[in-house]
Amino acid sequence: MAEKTINRELANVINVRLNRQLLYYIDICTRCGLCKDACHQYVATGDVTYLPAYRAELIRRVYKKYFTRTGRFMPSLIEGREPDDRLLDELYRTTYACTGCRRCMYYCPFSIDTTWLLGVAKAMLLEAGRGSPILTELAGAAVMKGENIDLFKDVILESLKDTEKEVQQITGDASAQIPVEKTGAQAMYVALAGTHTILPVAVIFHHARLDWTLSLFEAANYGYFLGDNKLAKTIADRIVDEAKRLQVTQIILSECGHAYRVMKFLYEAWAKEKLPFEVKGIVEVMHELVESGKIKLKKDSIAEAVTYHDPCQVGRNAGFYEEPRSLVKAVSRDYREMTPNREKNWCCGGGGGVVAEPAMDEFRLKTGMKKVEQIRATGARIVVSPCENCRLQLDGLNEKYNLNIKISSLMDLVADNLVAQK
Ligand code: SF4
Ligand code: SF4
Repeated sequence: MAEKTINRELANVINVRLNRQLLYYIDICTRCGLCKDACHQYVATGDVTYLPAYRAELIRRVYKKYFTRTGRFMPSLIEGREPDDRLLDELYRTTYACTGCRRCMYYCPFSIDTTWLLGVAKAMLLEAGRGSPILTELAGAAVMKGENIDLFKDVILESLKDTEKEVQQITGDASAQIPVEKTGAQAMYVALAGTHTILPVAVIFHHARLDWTLSLFEAANYGYFLGDNKLAKTIADRIVDEAKRLQVTQIILSECGHAYRVMKFLYEAWAKEKLPFEVKGIVEVMHELVESGKIKLKKDSIAEAVTYHDPCQVGRNAGFYEEPRSLVKAVSRDYREMTPNREKNWCCGGGGGVVAEPAMDEFRLKTGMKKVEQIRATGARIVVSPCENCRLQLDGLNEKYNLNIKISSLMDLVADNLVAQK
């Protein structure tokens, strides 16, 4: 196919997604540059490629070239560009590096959502056959598991036996269980890969006497990071179908910021259906269990200084600031806040699928510098964060910059500090 035709087809990806919101984001940027100091990646590198407004500008330029009158006849007048190889290379670099933290949106006077525009960029890259190979592979593996779950079931059930024994030891109750495929359970918990996301929750739910069942699938959704909404929906479908089959009234997602975002805010629009169950994150559930008195925490039991890192998808993008803090503060004698925090918190640098890309290791550790400065300034020895991607990044930062900290999930913090039930 002629290059011009290919370029037009790629530009058409913008047209297909064009709605009022996208048009607003394309039109309104005044190039004021306020987003520049908000992005940890631009601040750490000084590379214009990572400036939020510039990332969006690449899409804007293609739009101007193909969908404005001046762009069609004199594109150079308004910086219109074709989506040629050079532009696609640049787009790949800038788009798959973005962690989706939305700090730039918070500081933009017009609330331009760069990640929305980069969603269009990812769709264009996918159309050009240039999606991230690693994210494609990970998403494909999740789909394959969904299609062949019967082949995996025995291995999953076998591996849960040891975890169940650990739950029994910790709770001192030989009847404690990790229920799987329990029809009619009140809640279905969706963990991540690895029993470290199952064990603490099983202990907490046992203490709370919660009627629950464990999903056979993991919460992580690499189709979302890849930018392929169809694939992301297929991956989420596995969980939705299981929850429907088991007739649960609630699903509870593990400490995984993007998985919560997919299921809570995006899935219904993709599927064009209302989910017949409630979607909750484990952070809010643990908070509710404490508030309702179903579990009790050992007050002030941790003597070392503790701080809390707001995961972007749990805090800025979902609004859970006080719930996790109240849990951390309850068990800490010396709680120290990072500055800035809550909606202004710096991204750790590990979101958006970046931790899954080995080629980005050096870049992501470099762009975590703002987080390193924040942690150092607190003097805390324990950093708590309820997101697996954040914790992987914090582990990397800890090692590279000798922070000498312990990184904990909120689930572990709660499970380790439960008052034994009578
Ligand atoms: S802050 Fe908003 S308006 Fe200003 S340059 Fe950045 S995206 Fe454009
Ligand atoms: S969402 Fe975060 S990483 Fe992406 S451009 Fe905005 S500030 Fe930078």
